[in-house]
Amino acid sequence: MSKVKQVTLAELLEDPVYRQWFNQPPAETEFTRWRVYVKVKKKAAWAKRDFVTWKKAFKFLAKNSRAWYDCVLVCRNNAYRPPVIRVGRKRQYYSPIVNWPGRVWCPHCRRPTIFGWFATHHAFSGTFRPLPWRKRCSICGIAQEAIKEYK
Ligand SMILES: [Zn+2]
Repeated sequence: MSKVKQVTLAELLEDPVYRQWFNQPPAETEFTRWRVYVKVKKKAAWAKRDFVTWKKAFKFLAKNSRAWYDCVLVCRNNAYRPPVIRVGRKRQYYSPIVNWPGRVWCPHCRRPTIFGWFATHHAFSGTFRPLPWRKRCSICGIAQEAIKEYK
């Protein structure tokens, strides 16, 4: 695991572009499933709670997030691209978020996260173990090779 500090939701929401994007209901279908990961304190393990709609997950997060060190609203089965802004006549991914140093845009966590190698991972339950040579999102556990690179 790298020594780079995970950026928290509170820190991300200081960015007005990300804040507006984060607060907007994303496109979803009846099959979209959501998970909120919560770190109550900085050194705590990630706890999780599953939701069937973004709205329910978002409400849970909005109500409680100030009491937590960090939380992540993860889409379990859809990938979401980063916020897009218009620069002149061109549209591009919002650079301060997508190029956050040491982070990769995770399209399931919907934020820049740290990817690394894991022999065990909290997203894997029971007897499942992650393949240690695959780089994964430190929060939701998606393999880096399974996601698109957003630049
Ligand atoms: Zn992730």
